[in-house]
Amino acid sequence: MRKNYFAKLVRYMKNVYHIERGLNKLSDGRVNPTYSTGQVILPVLFGFLLRMKSFNELSLMIKNREFSQLFPRGTKLPQIDAIRDTLKVMDIDGLKQVNQNIVKTAVKNKAFENGTIDGYMVAAIDGTKFFGSNKKSCSECLKNTKGDMTHCFHSGAVMSTVGSGPKLVISFEMYKPGQDSTSKDEGELNVAKRLISSVVESHKKLIDVVVYDALACNSIWINHCKDLGIDVVVRAKNNNNRSLRLVKKKVNKLDAVEVWDDEKGLEKVEIYESTFTMDNVEGPLRFVKFALRHKNKKRTQIMIVTTCMDTALKTLFKIIRARWDIENSIFNNLKTECGLEHCFVHGGKAVEAVLYLIFIASNIMQLFLVRRLKNNFTTQRETARLLLKGLYLLKYRSELVFSSS
Ligand SMILES: [Zn+2]
Repeated sequence: MRKNYFAKLVRYMKNVYHIERGLNKLSDGRVNPTYSTGQVILPVLFGFLLRMKSFNELSLMIKNREFSQLFPRGTKLPQIDAIRDTLKVMDIDGLKQVNQNIVKTAVKNKAFENGTIDGYMVAAIDGTKFFGSNKKSCSECLKNTKGDMTHCFHSGAVMSTVGSGPKLVISFEMYKPGQDSTSKDEGELNVAKRLISSVVESHKKLIDVVVYDALACNSIWINHCKDLGIDVVVRAKNNNNRSLRLVKKKVNKLDAVEVWDDEKGLEKVEIYESTFTMDNVEGPLRFVKFALRHKNKKRTQIMIVTTCMDTALKTLFKIIRARWDIENSIFNNLKTECGLEHCFVHGGKAVEAVLYLIFIASNIMQLFLVRRLKNNFTTQRETARLLLKGLYLLKYRSELVFSSS
């Protein structure tokens, strides 16, 4: 039993994060339910920890009594239809609270003692479409109509830590139909503003810097973050506005302020910078252009606008490049490994409830891998395999002797 990773994970969740306490507090809108909310939610959470890709898979696991060791003897687990119905009337605030407690405990336990990048606690925001359908829809769906075809989908913005340490989903926010424009930039910026405001409300002083792509390179986003006391690093693309066009022109005539030839994967980086003011933003901002020459001689550039007036250029470069962490460690990973794009259940609160559970499972796994196992596994698949093995070892404690010596 020494190396039962599943047992280790369960103990870690219980003893360090007290997940069961939060789950026991959950409630939902069912009348006279047979099963407590926790009894319904726990198998789903374990399903996501074990990388299940569909509720059909979960249904089979429940029928085969794979989770029997996790509950007191004689506990009957709900069938998948009861799970679906419960998720539709789930208390979302309770799930939000569970995730908040995970992040708070991680911070308290010094998971980010030295920030994530050069002493700063850096988070990234990015928008994504979770899933869509041309057949099924619910009242919370966003809709795009082309001809006589209506595509229904759910999108949101996610905020996660980036840089070193565990990549935690701090929170996410869904697009609201009727309130948020479905057009990419305007809608997403609106959702992102709600997201960062709610994060600051529940986690005071957690984030120093937020990094975001070019759709946020405007006075609306910069002022919103400044008001919340958070520094901004945003990618600047071509000609977002007049002041940006002017500072770009100005910087093109200047000499490089620094030249690096020791950046990993790059032959040379030349840095140009200037302060400038943007219409409708009080005080100066900083514009930085990193001109990159890659090992294959290809040239590209990264331009940023930031409120970090004194931060070292190397640090700013790390921050803008860490923006990809949310794409790679969160979106791509959860989409390929955890069915983030799969519609497990549709209707009522179910979509949001499932997303919370996917992100909670992802956060627990990140913390378990980085903090408890010290990143000793090569791949996530390997981790999933070892966890499943542990689950089965728990269930089949009796010996199975294949050969006799
Ligand atoms: Zn829907």
